[in-house]
Amino acid sequence: MMSQSQALDQLVDFQSAIPKISRMGGGGSRTRLFACVRCHLLKTKEQFDKNQCENCPDFDSFEENTTSIYEGIVTLINPKESYVGNVLGLSDVIPGMYAMTVGSSAE
Ligand SMILES: [Zn+2]
Repeated sequence: MMSQSQALDQLVDFQSAIPKISRMGGGGSRTRLFACVRCHLLKTKEQFDKNQCENCPDFDSFEENTTSIYEGIVTLINPKESYVGNVLGLSDVIPGMYAMTVGSSAE
């Protein structure tokens, strides 16, 4: 009878620990960058939550408009005069970090 209640206690402990773990995960991802799927701007989730995307007026949802799947990071100090910015079609954007390619949700 003891072992059963002990097992139950452990189960309850484990379940109450889950939200704590996922909250820690969220805090730990503070430096993780997400890319805007339209202009490729790279920012943290907190920055997107606070300012949305400076380049995209119709940015309305972090979940729908950003992705964590991207390749290559370029920093555009002066996008209008940047060769890389022009090649990527990012000449009319705010200075910042951009992903070169943004992964599709195809996979
Ligand atoms: Zn954008």
